[in-house]
Amino acid sequence: MTKSGSAVKVLFVTTELAPFSKVGGLGDVAGSLPKALRQAGVDVRVVTPAWPGVLEKVSSLGVRTTTVKAKVYSAYDWRIHSANIIKATVDGVIIYFLNSEDYSGSQYPSQLNFWTASPFAVFCMQALELKNAIDWEPDIYHCHDWTSAFLPCALAWHRHYRQTGGKSIMTLHNVAYQGIFEPYPFLEASGLEPWSFNSSTMEFYGQVNLLKGGIVAATAVTTVSPTYANEIQTYESTRELSGILYQQRSKLRGIINGLDVKFWDPNGDKAIPAKFSVKDLKGKAACKKALLERAGFDPNTNAPVIVCVSRLVEQKGFDMVFNAAGQIAETGAKLLIIGSGNDWIEKGIIQASEAYPDSIKLFKGYDEPLSHLMYAGGDIFLMPSVFEPCGLSQMISMRYGTVPVVREVGGLRDTVFDVDRPEGGNGFTFQTCDVDGMMWALRRAVERYNNDKASWKKFMIEGMSEDFTWDKSAGLYKNLYEELMQ
Ligand code: ADP
Repeated sequence: MTKSGSAVKVLFVTTELAPFSKVGGLGDVAGSLPKALRQAGVDVRVVTPAWPGVLEKVSSLGVRTTTVKAKVYSAYDWRIHSANIIKATVDGVIIYFLNSEDYSGSQYPSQLNFWTASPFAVFCMQALELKNAIDWEPDIYHCHDWTSAFLPCALAWHRHYRQTGGKSIMTLHNVAYQGIFEPYPFLEASGLEPWSFNSSTMEFYGQVNLLKGGIVAATAVTTVSPTYANEIQTYESTRELSGILYQQRSKLRGIINGLDVKFWDPNGDKAIPAKFSVKDLKGKAACKKALLERAGFDPNTNAPVIVCVSRLVEQKGFDMVFNAAGQIAETGAKLLIIGSGNDWIEKGIIQASEAYPDSIKLFKGYDEPLSHLMYAGGDIFLMPSVFEPCGLSQMISMRYGTVPVVREVGGLRDTVFDVDRPEGGNGFTFQTCDVDGMMWALRRAVERYNNDKASWKKFMIEGMSEDFTWDKSAGLYKNLYEELMQ
């Protein structure tokens, strides 16, 4: 509640939104947290760009839309940028898709420079202007990652917006991506005051760093797990923003992500061949069979199936996986990976699958339905991340009774607890970030699966019974919103 007793009004400013424009975990969070906040009594709405294909996806999912009469305008690079506002309501949450030429390029440019960064600045200013086109004005702008970090910067340092006294929250889903590019001609074109470009604001080794600016300028900063909130204050984990994060730590807090548990539900999931639940696990065997068939492996094998659903980038530790290919094959387990990303990682996995074709299979690319089958059909979920802000995949895998093997880092450390602790747990964890560390945990999992089916079932049930709803975390965000309104 605000001082006047009305619900806090929050605008989610996000460049990814599941199920319309998801790329990774940020899209999942932006798609599910607003629903939970709404149930908690926050008046939350979402604004997001209509990237190519997004409006088609909206209509293919049968979501009804209307076009708002007024357009939204923003001034950037000496011209007016306008966008049509397409309004939709999904599970009670109002979403504004901004549709204009500015959003006709790729959602994440491969190279960042003034021109490719411009849509993100334009988007943030249009989010600030949205209140002039609709009959609703947010109390707080809730921004996510570098792609909307220009908004807090504008509220602090833009010639026009710094007068408006708006409040903002910067949520860090992954500090490794910062939005760094040359300052010329951005500084003049953006409308930011020239004095906003210095080492204690958004300047970063002579470049613009939007995320750094957003962290400094925002009223509050959150990140997606308590452990990651601590880790990012030290040098190793943030590619040199740790100093700023340490300096800003009094306004930083870690709030663990939840899941859309209705969407990720093995008992109602239409993308898997058989349903199952804690009470009746039988369907999981049919999912395993279907997955093995899809991979071209013997569907009747007793071997444990290890699955990975991931972006194939350095952060996720897949070099450890392909370097351990021989040892993994030796355990007798099958390893199925779905993902795409860096060439050298894809190559390493392809070589591993060619060397051990009876044990390792890569499904290259992004495939949502197949990812559901992987979660449902696997026995073990492997996630050996070098760093992991929160990680949703390990939680999804637990929902589907697939026991995680993870490195004890970031949000993995806050959600997966080793079964061999005296108090028990829901997975297998390791600390050392190398092949030996990972294999130590993976071998324990494979051995336990092979030799102790009763314990294995207990681990599955432990994971499936965890509370991964947004309820608790939505309450923490609500508290933060209300604190900012005091
Ligand atoms: P990150 O945000 O770092 O990519 P998370 O674990 O937080 O990692 O979220 C990843 C999300 O993206 C999960 O919902 C996961 O299922 C999904 N995902 C990742 N790779 C793929 C893929 N190749 N195909 C389908 N879904 C994927």
